[in-house]
Amino acid sequence: MKSKSYKFLNFISNLFLPESCNLRVLAYHDIIDSNKFEAQIKFLVKSKYNIISVNDLHAYLYDGKILTKNSLLITFDDGDVSVLDHGLPILRKYDLPSVMFVITGLINSANTFWCRWVEIALQNQGKSYAESRVVVNSLKKMSNSERVAYLEKLDPVASRQLTIDDMLKMQNGKMFIGNHTHTHPMVNKCTDQELNNDLKLSLASFEKWQLPGGKIFAYPNGNWDKESEEILKNNGIDMAFLFDHKLNKKDINPMRISRIRVNSDTELNEFKVKISGLHSKLMTLKNRIV
Ligand SMILES: [Zn+2]
Repeated sequence: MKSKSYKFLNFISNLFLPESCNLRVLAYHDIIDSNKFEAQIKFLVKSKYNIISVNDLHAYLYDGKILTKNSLLITFDDGDVSVLDHGLPILRKYDLPSVMFVITGLINSANTFWCRWVEIALQNQGKSYAESRVVVNSLKKMSNSERVAYLEKLDPVASRQLTIDDMLKMQNGKMFIGNHTHTHPMVNKCTDQELNNDLKLSLASFEKWQLPGGKIFAYPNGNWDKESEEILKNNGIDMAFLFDHKLNKKDINPMRISRIRVNSDTELNEFKVKISGLHSKLMTLKNRIV
């Protein structure tokens, strides 16, 4: 959509959208534009939204505590180092809490997150970025064992990853460290045993690092199904976040918390439309029509 359209939609959302939601959760990945990210954060600070911590949300869901009006939680997936380098300083400047969901198997390693690994390895072989994305998307649809077998044949690609010290620094800077699995599988493509093993490894890592967030979980790629949810519960996970680009309804299921997808380089008008919930409604409508 063009920026002019977002300006118009933002105007519309301010005029007509009723205030029906009391919890918004934003899902970021990396920080590719610090200036635009800071503009988004500045807007949130001055707006009607109240930025809460994941502990505030947990206390609301489990201990009957009140949730502040227009609560908004900021989250990041995948443990990208750009969030530590460029996102955390901005959040600290405004003294805001947030959550980073990490892939525990990558911590303290020089390995690359598998989606990025496939992109780089295939581009090194002469494929275009678009072609590499087609492969990534097809891998997400395969069984977990097929995906793992494909990755085993790829040339290794080194990346900087978060260290345990980085995570402690983040946690001390009000960026809570949560669980995004050990290897970032598509949980609905795993056998029960594969998912149980992955969760046990991630939970053991949190225990080893003495970080409290192992039981607060974000579904990789947002892939969710009832069977996986049961396995998560059996492993003691008591909060799980989706990636469904929706606002939360009045009654929140702690294992199915909706999140709005945003990027650090999103223009402010587009960002405002997305967090208003209007964008999500338009997308739903578009999917019904198409
Ligand atoms: Zn992820």
